[in-house]
Amino acid sequence: MGSVARIRGAFTVDSTDPELVRSQMQAFGRQIPLLYFMLVVNTMAVAITHLAYAPAWLAIHIPAALCTVCVFRCVRWWFVRHRTLTHEKAVPELRKTFWFACGFGVGFTTWSLLLFPYGPAYEQCQVAFYMATTVVGCVFCLMHLRTAALTLLTIVIGSFTIFLLAAGRPVFVAMAADMLFVGVTLAFIVHLYYRNFASLVSSKRELLVSQSVTQKLSDDNFRLANIDSLTGLPNRRSFFSSLNALAEQSTGGVANFHMGLIDLDGFKQVNDIYGHSSGDLVLKEVGNRLLALADPTIFFARLGGDEFGIIIQRRLGEDELDRLGQTLCERLSRPYTVGENTAELSGTIGWAGLPPASVSVAEVFERADAALYVGKESRRGTAVVFSAEHENRVRRASLVAQELKAANLDAELYLEFQPIYDVATRTAVGFEALGRWRSPKLGQVRPDEFIRIAERTDLIRVVTEVLLHKALNEAANWPPHIYLSFNLSALDISSVPRARRLLDIVQASATLAERVHFEITETAVTRDFRQARASLSLIKQVGCQVSLDDFGTGYSSLSYVHRLPFDTIKIDRSFVAEVDTDVACGKIIKSVMDLCRNLGLECVVEGVETESQCEMLTALGCRVMQGYLFGKPMPAEALQFFQANVV
Ligand code: C2E
Ligand code: CA
Ligand code: CA
Repeated sequence: MGSVARIRGAFTVDSTDPELVRSQMQAFGRQIPLLYFMLVVNTMAVAITHLAYAPAWLAIHIPAALCTVCVFRCVRWWFVRHRTLTHEKAVPELRKTFWFACGFGVGFTTWSLLLFPYGPAYEQCQVAFYMATTVVGCVFCLMHLRTAALTLLTIVIGSFTIFLLAAGRPVFVAMAADMLFVGVTLAFIVHLYYRNFASLVSSKRELLVSQSVTQKLSDDNFRLANIDSLTGLPNRRSFFSSLNALAEQSTGGVANFHMGLIDLDGFKQVNDIYGHSSGDLVLKEVGNRLLALADPTIFFARLGGDEFGIIIQRRLGEDELDRLGQTLCERLSRPYTVGENTAELSGTIGWAGLPPASVSVAEVFERADAALYVGKESRRGTAVVFSAEHENRVRRASLVAQELKAANLDAELYLEFQPIYDVATRTAVGFEALGRWRSPKLGQVRPDEFIRIAERTDLIRVVTEVLLHKALNEAANWPPHIYLSFNLSALDISSVPRARRLLDIVQASATLAERVHFEITETAVTRDFRQARASLSLIKQVGCQVSLDDFGTGYSSLSYVHRLPFDTIKIDRSFVAEVDTDVACGKIIKSVMDLCRNLGLECVVEGVETESQCEMLTALGCRVMQGYLFGKPMPAEALQFFQANVV
């Protein structure tokens, strides 16, 4: 910018920057009443001392008129000194202030110049002194409005300097030079001050902008850290922090909130059959359905996978809780549209009940989990409230987990074997290894109990490895045509490296890989279909066989059979139990047999307990069976009979 333009700029009201205008108004608004007050007092002092020398119009009327306007302006500014104006209103106000400063500058200067000649030397000095000090005071008050300050300075100092110079006396010339020097210095200070003020305003603005960017980033971070991006529901972290806060607030004997867990039934199947993007659509829809039921006291969160959490921040009666559970289950079981298909799912709910206030958040969660477990086991698609019976179960589970962790697994775990029997040749074709645990403290613990707990605590890896070692050692003693059937849990095939470790154990043993069959349940496969398929392929590559265990207890059983490299299907014993009374069971078994034949798979029927069941099954075309009729699980030493003999 050229210097002329810069000088012009210094004398023009800059209204382009709203923030600067606002700050100017705020800063000088409070000083203006002071300015007028000083002006009035100083003017009256000069007027009074000139009463005796100057005519009335000059000593009384003009100063009185000027002072009256000043008083009006002073009172007005006093009352509005704290207001905040919009930019549109502030700009005219600034301009008005500028014009008033010019007007008063001209008015008071003219008055002083007219008054100057009337008095003797002292009074003349007083006028000059009045003008010099008052203008300095006014300029300081107008510092924030540079245009007004500089214009006022120019008018007053300019006209007085010219006037004094024109008077010609050396003392006046000296005063003029003095005034000019002070005026220029003052102008320079005003300029510097204003520049600093403007840059302060702009750095404050930059600071605010960067603060708001930081705030936005921190808000985004907070959102990302607390919201599940797929469903838009609060996430696990947010759920637990709310739960912790509520637990802390609980007063009296019991907590004043309810907590529930929802687990979707059949979600994995949707994921596997229709693909992950369809699974995501279902989860979003679940999120929407839950949100539709949310109110200020009901809070839903997605805890991960197909698990959701509920917190109710008030106490509900048993009936109310029941009704809410039913409504939730009913909403969740409505059909889901995934692309062109319709998926049927349901939701099972476990309520923690009203836990005592002393119970920790982890325990509240465990209660809901225990109730959910019961629901998943026997009452899918319904809501189950935690009860005393569940409490025992939770206690027992944590006791078993504790003992299992401390156990000497190599010494305490052992195996029993159950024959898998070919009814046509009347010989055992294989033995299924069934894990057993005799704990020094708990005694004999049921396999389904300790296996489930080992799975939850991830001790299953060691359990499986210990049992596999033992099973392979035994199988090495059997005739080569008898195979070993060994149960794997979901976690054992949850990653390829994990499966690899087990296969290394097989390959390092004296039992040929071809003689080892691994049994995997359908639920194990549905946990993570892709990982399971990769692990099963590896098992097959090594030469082991794979059996699908408990067939018929899952959901979409048939959809897995041709997508995974199974060799054998084991029909669950629940079909056999009623085969001689329920015609439907017979039909199902028959169709599974046909399926196996078409796909070239072996078929084993489990849980054959009676002769009549055996006959019925034989008539249906079954040949390989397993069950108490042929032999209960037994210690390895008792197997010789089956290895050699025809029953
Ligand atoms: P499963 O794999 O279905 O094993 C068959 C279960 O049915 C065994 O129960 C067996 O004793 C029982 N059973 C066999 N024949 C009959 C019969 O005619 N009638 C009746 N009512 N039951 C019969 P067990 O030994 O209590 O094992 C229960 C479950 O625990 C097993 O079911 C399996 O899922 C799991 N399990 C057992 N050992 C292991 C293991 O070493 N690893 C893993 N991952 N799971 C195991
Ligand atoms: Ca099995
Ligand atoms: Ca089975």
